Amino acid sequence: MSGKSPIWHPFTQHGLKQPIPLVERARGAVLETADGRRVVDAISSWWVITHGHNHPRIVAAIQEQAAKLDQVIFAGWTHEPAETLARSLRQMMPEPLEYVFFSDSGSTAVEVALKMALGYWLNRGDHKHRIVVMEHSYHGDTIGAMSVGERGVYNSAYQPLLFDVETVPFPSVGAEQTTLDALETACKRGDTAAFIVEPLVLGAGGMLIYSPEVLRQMREICAAHDVLFIADEVMTGWGRTGTLLACEQANVVPDILCLAKGLTGGSMPLAVTMATAPIYDAHYSTDRSRMFFHSSSFTANPIACAAANANIAIWREEPVLEGVARLAEREAAAFARLAAVHDVGNLRQCGSIVAFDVTVQDSGYLADIGPRLLADFLSQDMLIRPLGNTIYLMPPYSLTAEDLGRVEAAIGNALDRIKA
Ligand SMILES: *Cc1c(COP(=O)(O)O)cnc(C)c1O
Repeated sequence: MSGKSPIWHPFTQHGLKQPIPLVERARGAVLETADGRRVVDAISSWWVITHGHNHPRIVAAIQEQAAKLDQVIFAGWTHEPAETLARSLRQMMPEPLEYVFFSDSGSTAVEVALKMALGYWLNRGDHKHRIVVMEHSYHGDTIGAMSVGERGVYNSAYQPLLFDVETVPFPSVGAEQTTLDALETACKRGDTAAFIVEPLVLGAGGMLIYSPEVLRQMREICAAHDVLFIADEVMTGWGRTGTLLACEQANVVPDILCLAKGLTGGSMPLAVTMATAPIYDAHYSTDRSRMFFHSSSFTANPIACAAANANIAIWREEPVLEGVARLAEREAAAFARLAAVHDVGNLRQCGSIVAFDVTVQDSGYLADIGPRLLADFLSQDMLIRPLGNTIYLMPPYSLTAEDLGRVEAAIGNALDRIKA
């Protein structure tokens, strides 16, 4: 390949002329670049790869399905991979979540959830439309998903297009009651349709962790005031937090559940929004104007569904959560050793997600420590992408003890150099 690439990359300032590695293949937790480097993927290629790259069972399922049925319209048509997947999800996920709506990314799963919530209230003759969100949330980059997410430099240009929401503060330790009170006040307003939240861990907001007890109480407040509870488990789902869903740890069943990223083990773009019977029933009618008006070209793509079915087979037949627990233990030890000798604070962990904050003056997203660390990690063949001054790991569950050792050493080196 010669000449300048015409590709406009996501979340990339091309003017900084930073190197863009060319990845040729991947296996487990390792990426292999065209120039022969072996890079440890310590963030699961942006939180999507769960078991490991190119899991043989998922690869085989994709190959087999691709030769059989590549794509078919899903409005008014169906196919076996989607039927099997929907039934499996119904079995695996909490019982009240009876219906499965397909889409193709976390952002669209969230858009669908918001549209379902509004459709539910409208079709019941109630014009509730206000959405309540949590401070520091992230729900995706489409307009609706940005509207319910934290406002900042990454969406200020689009501010005029974003709709108004009610925001409750993040439940920091010791200030949980403030969050619960704010949620209760917001839910008491007659026009509140739904509360959307990332259960237990706010990802893009900086790997901020709150307790299952707060999650449980938030769910109860919504139920008490007839406000729909939307759990965005796009990142936390599929074992990330140590359980299949983060909601499980709080014994919480949402009215609407968003899943994407790890749904296919991270191999193919696919998402689902699951809903309870009352939400489906509110759209069920002989009146066509009450149907759910949403579709995209690749809704329930058969190849992606086959990949998800293989992922579920792995969940059913292999000890996935034991692997997560083992990994989490090793990560805890590694980060405790690093925290003991470096200038970091707020060490925290939830399942396979572990994080701490580097002590600095300016800690915002555009603070220069993030890119400096990122470049340092890359020079050490590590895919670790700090969020501002927060260094975190969210590796594939198959990360070996040896590669975790390399990750620990690389973080130690980078922290030594940042001080110098
Ligand atoms: C990544 C993410 C999304 C958006 O998913 P995409 O597939 O990138 O559109 C939504 N919600 C949460 C919590 C996420 O972490």
